[in-house]
Amino acid sequence: MAIELFSIGTELVLGQIQDTNAHWIAQQILQIGGELRRVTMLRDDAEEMYEALESAIERETSLILTTGGLGPTPDDMTVAVVASLIGTKPVVSEETLADFRKRREMSENDPLNEALTKMAMIPESATALQNPAGWAPCISVEYQDTTLMMMPGPPREMKAIFETYIQPLIAERYRAEITTARVYVSMFEAEVSPLMQKVMEHHPDVYLKAYVSLRNADTNMMPVDLVSTSADKADAETQLQLATDYFRELVVETGKHFSLEEA
Ligand code: AMP
Ligand code: MG
Repeated sequence: MAIELFSIGTELVLGQIQDTNAHWIAQQILQIGGELRRVTMLRDDAEEMYEALESAIERETSLILTTGGLGPTPDDMTVAVVASLIGTKPVVSEETLADFRKRREMSENDPLNEALTKMAMIPESATALQNPAGWAPCISVEYQDTTLMMMPGPPREMKAIFETYIQPLIAERYRAEITTARVYVSMFEAEVSPLMQKVMEHHPDVYLKAYVSLRNADTNMMPVDLVSTSADKADAETQLQLATDYFRELVVETGKHFSLEEA
């Protein structure tokens, strides 16, 4: 039930704009209990976007999320790329046009400007989910074993769309049970890393991460997070307990301190 995220925008790759969408979405997915497998940052380059999305489909990613590239300018190419990837063409979403007209208090025959018309384009087999905080809709499409959900790039719009459409979808279809714990060890990263590796080898569904920058200078204790993922809550808790016990054993064996509290 893997999820992958693509942040699309040359300005992101150039470092002109920080990819805050990916950070926020990753936090949300972890909270809901989804499994985010990979985050990819892409330039506004049709060929590179095509290749990257195609390989995610080949990896049988259950849910592909994208942000960016849904705007009115020529560098916004997400719809065109996805349409060609799934073998359809971009078409105007009449539903979206109707929504735009309604929100602009326009009559049925009033012409819409070019920018709005472009933002109403979706791949032929896709569904437009109207944007509660802007214009370009969220676009959802099924292809092979994958669901693709495209979101606009502006963070405020992305968040509104994520909360309205994507969060409930992940909670319903792609959720795993996640249990976490934080422990503290009196070790340096280089000392503790091989032990963490050993724990992850024994318990592949538990992920360990040490936070060097959060080391307490007075006690010399460094926090280590354990994140346990399973389809079943009880199993996630059992795995977490076993991994924590094993980690403690390995740390104590070296003569160092292990604690469940910061102290
Ligand atoms: P776009 O949907 O590609 O037209 O993006 C619109 C604007 O949203 C861009 O100019 C960026 O400033 C912002 N934006 C796009 N992607 C991201 C992202 N991943 N993180 C933060 N801001 C973004
Ligand atoms: Mg863009």
